[in-house]
Amino acid sequence: MSFTNVKYSSKYDMKKELYSYAFALLFLLLPGNWLFHKTIQERRDNKMNETKRTILAIGAHAGDMEISCGAVLAKQAKMGDRVVFLHLTLGEGGNPRISAKEYGEQKRREALEVDSLLGGETIFGPYKDGELPNDETARRYVANVIRTVKPTYIITHWKNSIHPDHSNAHAITVDAVLLASLPSVETVTPYSPTEYPAWRGVKRILYTENWEDMEGFQPYIYTDVTDAFDTWESAVAKYEFIGGKISNFPYLNYYKALAVVRGAESSFRYAVAFDIDQFEKKLRWRSLEP
Ligand SMILES: [Zn+2]
Repeated sequence: MSFTNVKYSSKYDMKKELYSYAFALLFLLLPGNWLFHKTIQERRDNKMNETKRTILAIGAHAGDMEISCGAVLAKQAKMGDRVVFLHLTLGEGGNPRISAKEYGEQKRREALEVDSLLGGETIFGPYKDGELPNDETARRYVANVIRTVKPTYIITHWKNSIHPDHSNAHAITVDAVLLASLPSVETVTPYSPTEYPAWRGVKRILYTENWEDMEGFQPYIYTDVTDAFDTWESAVAKYEFIGGKISNFPYLNYYKALAVVRGAESSFRYAVAFDIDQFEKKLRWRSLEP
């Protein structure tokens, strides 16, 4: 409808009509409409939250998963997902000033506190720092944990690392996902005496970005962690080694700066990046996008 075709009997009528348009516009833009959109957004969020995920983060040492992707896990936990940490070793050899036994006890306490602050549960593996074996028992032990926890997503180390425990954790985990899915495979080990049914529900394995595992790592999936950044920062600082009192490596500054860099690359304020297997890097299109 064009204003030029409308005949007004008086200036007053014209004003009245203009006011009614302005009022209608206000109605569309202001609270009612905002509430309408808010309701749609809430419905979308609720729908996403109805589909609860379970995320199993498998690290070679207590602290590896928390420092590298703990912000993602805190975010998912806030959304209602179940988050479980499996620390294959405590990383008890990392403090030259105290014995491995004493530091192991400290790491165990720290892990329980930090994982809980991030909204997760904790499982401690049976292995020793620096001696994580890439063997059949370790595969079946992790497969047994997978069958127990029933994860939708698994996060672990990238395949290449300067630390053998990290690359072994990667290899063990990738094989364990397959073993856990095969009903004929038994996963009873000295560390896991109960047999559980096969679990085929792992949607994806994500490899987290870690300063020790950078050879060939390519950030592929960028996850917005802006909302969970503060929770993550205050939680992980409870680990003494992350707080900077044990190692010369500036853990907290490194991972905070990394979140800024990955955020800049993906138009988020803070982001955590993951790599995935090469064979997973494919897009399926019915035709070229318009
Ligand atoms: Zn480590």
